[in-house]
Amino acid sequence: MPWRETSDPYLIWVSEVILQQTRVAQGWDYYVRFTRRFPTVQSLASASEEEVLMEWQGLGYYSRARNMHAAARDIMDRFNGEFPTRYNDILSLKGIGEYTASAISSIAFNEPHAAVDGNVLRVIARLFAIADPIDASKGKKAVTGIARSLMPLDNPAAFNQAIMDFGSLVCTPAQPKCDECPLQDYCMGYSLKRPTDFPVSAKKKEPKKRYFHYFHILHNGSTYITRRVKQDIWKNLYEFPLVETSGHEGLDHLLESPAFKELFAGIPILPVDPPSTFKHVLSHQLIHASFYRVVLSGKTAFNPPGELLKIKRDQLGLYPIARLTRKYLESMDDSCGK
Ligand code: SF4
Repeated sequence: MPWRETSDPYLIWVSEVILQQTRVAQGWDYYVRFTRRFPTVQSLASASEEEVLMEWQGLGYYSRARNMHAAARDIMDRFNGEFPTRYNDILSLKGIGEYTASAISSIAFNEPHAAVDGNVLRVIARLFAIADPIDASKGKKAVTGIARSLMPLDNPAAFNQAIMDFGSLVCTPAQPKCDECPLQDYCMGYSLKRPTDFPVSAKKKEPKKRYFHYFHILHNGSTYITRRVKQDIWKNLYEFPLVETSGHEGLDHLLESPAFKELFAGIPILPVDPPSTFKHVLSHQLIHASFYRVVLSGKTAFNPPGELLKIKRDQLGLYPIARLTRKYLESMDDSCGK
């Protein structure tokens, strides 16, 4: 893995942020692309947020990219463009929590901080058969304490990286390779014959259900998009005009909604096809999305609300968009300019 070949704190930071919610196989390509486009803190800081989101699109959890961008600018201001070397300074950067600060300071600067990510939680919970849920503070504290006590102070970088990689390659979530595992003799989860019962999780909360109705308007070779500016998922990404409802609603109901009337301002519209529907799963939300394709005749005088941006339909690829909208465009065989 390229991020294991470097001690550059910036590159380690990028890899850690990308891999926070992304599998290694998927994150690898993004890491290579992102660090080619922004090879240094300086290059990231001098880019616009939109450029950063363009490189990030498809990875999800866009606040990670926005926070990195803000933190890169903070490094330019507060640390003269030099990545900070002290744990507390690293921790003070936007979007960097204890885990990421520990990973950067141990891998880049060999500081003795245990970096406890999901892999480390799983490995230690199995090795020691920890019965407390690791997504609650008691279990997490127990694992962190064990990781600290196991870490050799003369080589925290190797320890942290080894245990993370051991978790992603050997002690994997669903099918740990116990038969080949060099720690088998010491593993309490294995000796209890139920390694995958660990780690124990607290009950998961039901995801919030949301109902999105998008309007893909086509008018004289143009379409309309809007930027999500509210404090919500996908902030600053672009999407088609949206009407959100509190439940599953058909077109009849939408036609009567104030949001719809404001969007089309009394123009008689009829979507050309039944909507394309998608279920899109995020960590805490389940989105039921319908995309209506609406073709307006060339003569129609369409005066949309001011927040809508009129663009040529082949210019969609110039704007960062969420994966849900991309899924729709791909299903329509619309390359969105890419
Ligand atoms: Fe993980 Fe199995 Fe090894 Fe225990 S024996 S550490 S459960 S791979």
